[in-house]
Amino acid sequence: MSSAPIPSTILSFEDARHLVEQHASRVQPGGTEVVELLAAGGRVLAEPVLADRDIPPFARSTRDGYAVRSADLVELPVRLNVIGEIKAGERLERIPCSIEPGQAAAIMTGAPAPDGADAVVMVEFTAREGDRVEIQKGIAAGDNIVPRGAEARQGAVLLDRGLRLNDAGVALAASAGKTKLAVYKRPRVALLTTGDEIVEIRSRPGPTQIRNSNSYSLAVQIQAAGGEAVLLPIAPDEPKALRELIEQGLQSDLLLMTGGVSMGRYDLVEPVLAEMQAEFFFTGAKIQPGRPVVFGRCGGGAPAREDAKYFFGLPGNPISTMVTFELFARPMLEALAGQSPSKLMFLHALLKKEIRVKTGLKRFLPAILSGEFSDCGVELLRWQGSGDIAATARANCYIVIPNDREYIAAGEWVAVMMR
Ligand code: AMP
Ligand code: MG
Repeated sequence: MSSAPIPSTILSFEDARHLVEQHASRVQPGGTEVVELLAAGGRVLAEPVLADRDIPPFARSTRDGYAVRSADLVELPVRLNVIGEIKAGERLERIPCSIEPGQAAAIMTGAPAPDGADAVVMVEFTAREGDRVEIQKGIAAGDNIVPRGAEARQGAVLLDRGLRLNDAGVALAASAGKTKLAVYKRPRVALLTTGDEIVEIRSRPGPTQIRNSNSYSLAVQIQAAGGEAVLLPIAPDEPKALRELIEQGLQSDLLLMTGGVSMGRYDLVEPVLAEMQAEFFFTGAKIQPGRPVVFGRCGGGAPAREDAKYFFGLPGNPISTMVTFELFARPMLEALAGQSPSKLMFLHALLKKEIRVKTGLKRFLPAILSGEFSDCGVELLRWQGSGDIAATARANCYIVIPNDREYIAAGEWVAVMMR
């Protein structure tokens, strides 16, 4: 194999992430499809959802109580004449046409407030005496009534294209009467794992072989990020077979490879991609785990071809694979899925036990966040390094350690990335 040396580009975590975000901002999602609202959770909207009428469609009482004119409640207690009762869903013609001074109407949560009334007194602050009610507590104009259209006006954009639908998004679409929604098709993400020691999970591994776990953790991450995983056969550490499988992988919308990107003699992913005239945007990031991560684009022929596909070479160590997917591959996948860009955000928690590390790399180390309410703490898991899936399966987060820190004392706030 003729292998021209690949210029090494090792970036800081932030620069590498921003570079991926820049490329992601230029990709186009694939086609669209129409799905039932019940199947729309987690999908990305390909059309805006508009309000088909004002929300709320009438001035809505948020309490059970009495609709009143707040100006009547200057001196307390005050007795008002009850001229009717308005329940939720009441037909408009059955609602008292107007509340005059000295009058009130019994009203239920979700019922339309009558004209003239500008507030609702909660039933707890009233005493009913026949067709009169004693109001015991004052109230300001507007209290316990949501004016018509206060949440959204008819025709307003409720949900924008590019939004990934969660529970509230689906509820809003439901309230606007959308039974079906146009969403972007899930991008297909090819998964290619490499290594002579890796075997399929259904086979009995020889004494020095290990089962392919990376394709399975990645499939979960891909699904969670809105993609569809396409598993390719395991590639041996042999250039010709590897190249054929990479070419297959480039048929998908995105190619993720695991393993074969370190400095070993049989780490062939980069040389094979170079031979295929791939562009490399970075060949490493100053992070742990995951330092040898590679990001580039390859057309399977001449560089920068129209049909070139993005690829990531993720390091083979299972935790490196998981972490580098979250940090770098996810934003590209989300963009291909049509999702508007989202920033990586870290939570903060109090460190329970001190941490000592070397400086120079930004670290994402498996950890356990525990406690409840405002009393939460986080601590590193004891692990055997970035191959230790058993420890990581117990972790619910990663502690993020800046590259200039070598000691963090117990009791300090640390950044945490949930997993
Ligand atoms: P590599 O990046 O190829 O040097 O691999 C680093 C480590 O990750 C080695 O111990 C590999 O055996 C392991 N590894 C690579 N691919 C996988 C995989 N698909 N599943 C589990 N472990 C893997
Ligand atoms: Mg390998």
